[in-house]
Amino acid sequence: MTEHSSPLTFDTSWQYAPAPESADHISLKSRYGLFIDGKFRKPRSGKYFDTINPANEEKLAEVAEADAADVEAAVKAARRAYDKYWSKLKPAERGKYVYRIARMIQEKAREFAVIESLDGGKPIRESKSVDIPLAAAHFFYYAGWADKLAYAFPGRDPRPLGVAGQIIPWNFPLLMAAWKLAPALACGNTVLLKPAETTPLTALKLAELIQEADLPPGVVNILTGAGETGAAIVRQPGIDKIAFTGSTEVGKIIQKAVAGTHKKLTLELGGKAANIVLEDAPIDQAVEGIVNGIYFNQGHVCCAGSRLFVQEGVAGEVIQKLKTRMQTLIVGDPLDKNTDIGAINSRTQLETIESYLKIGQEEGASMYQPAYPLPEKGYWCRPTLFTDTAQSHRITQEEIFGPVLAVQTFRTLEEVVAKANNTPYGLSAGVWTDKGAKIFGLTQQLRAGVIWANTYNKFDPTAPFGGYKESGFGREGGLHGLEAYLQL
Ligand code: NAP
Ligand code: MG
Repeated sequence: MTEHSSPLTFDTSWQYAPAPESADHISLKSRYGLFIDGKFRKPRSGKYFDTINPANEEKLAEVAEADAADVEAAVKAARRAYDKYWSKLKPAERGKYVYRIARMIQEKAREFAVIESLDGGKPIRESKSVDIPLAAAHFFYYAGWADKLAYAFPGRDPRPLGVAGQIIPWNFPLLMAAWKLAPALACGNTVLLKPAETTPLTALKLAELIQEADLPPGVVNILTGAGETGAAIVRQPGIDKIAFTGSTEVGKIIQKAVAGTHKKLTLELGGKAANIVLEDAPIDQAVEGIVNGIYFNQGHVCCAGSRLFVQEGVAGEVIQKLKTRMQTLIVGDPLDKNTDIGAINSRTQLETIESYLKIGQEEGASMYQPAYPLPEKGYWCRPTLFTDTAQSHRITQEEIFGPVLAVQTFRTLEEVVAKANNTPYGLSAGVWTDKGAKIFGLTQQLRAGVIWANTYNKFDPTAPFGGYKESGFGREGGLHGLEAYLQL
């Protein structure tokens, strides 16, 4: 299905033979309708759009564009399902359905992983080892809570909210769907989910799986479309709760639209995380962690460690080792098991990243990129490092959402805390040091929802995730994630 291209690297000793994952076992329809009330239906407008493979710009399938009338039909179906079955079902029975979804995702994990990489451009190694297993793990975790909500909130009376409208981005398509659906369903809500325009396919495969799992019709509705479909969901009066993950810009629009209505809201928005390396850190592990933190998933990660702070005494060594490591990163075919950095998700996103590369150079920062060639077709960006950056630079302040790292140095812990907190965001951070006391000291002072110590980008369904400041409010994951879908 995809054209294979083996990227060349600087140092020929780092070239691997191609190891493409087979795409023979996947089944994709040429056209997908909207999943409403347990069936795939044509959109009222009759409009469809293409979803493409960003690694070769080839069309994968056509998907329906939902408008306000389709959203209304889905809300009616969700309300009926809520009143008739889902809110009346014994919690343990609800849990069984959620477990079934978890098991079926595991059974179809290979197919989901390949489709995720085809539609979104992320390396197959990541889809297989991170996205799909974590999505299944979220369903398993929340299935367990379905009949134990009274124990989660002792002395209170947890009840579902009703119909939830959920809008998700393109960077972790199935995983974001799982973060949204699993707690909502376990708590007894029914849902409408809108995947991102550029990555609808795993959500549609999930709709097929939900049909196969025999979930009562209308409990889960999946509506593909563009930003306007999301806006129609936000406006729909029959919805009780909006859960949004995406950009801070759209999050603000949604917050305004929901203000003054009965709808509950949670927002998981952008980030500009500080990854902080102290002089006593294990340097080689830290370099791996920095690479994992920003070049992982093409930097399409809300919690990506996009700002690196290195203490002066080790700055030279860290930057040199980082550059050497960057030369060995393999950029290319997402379906190749050796690939470290896949395709940028869309042409628009590539243009955004490229505009920041220009801005960074114009601001006076020094840019470093390994010189290896990139595949000819598709959307690609080399891993990029900016040094000589300042706090005032746009590349150190704004979320780029690409494989672009801005480095700054510091002398004292007070200085790094002030610099790291000097951002409108507060989603995540990383600290690398040999001393536990410094870890505890820094984590107390950094204004970020998630802080990793001597590791980066580790996720677990039991751990709550979410931000401070303009990174949003509400928590997903863990016990905290249940609160977003309950009235207590
Ligand atoms: P986005 O442009 O905000 O889009 C997110 C979703 O909202 C998409 O489904 C989008 O549809 C839809 N949408 C667009 N305009 C809308 C509107 N006016 N009303 C309602 N929905 C609307 O974000 P993105 O570019 O897809 O994702 C990247 C952003 O997500 C980054 O800022 C990243 O940090 C953030 N993110 C945060 C977390 C977290 O947990 N905090 C996790 C992942 C990503 P279309 O796709 O059709 O435009
Ligand atoms: Mg696509």
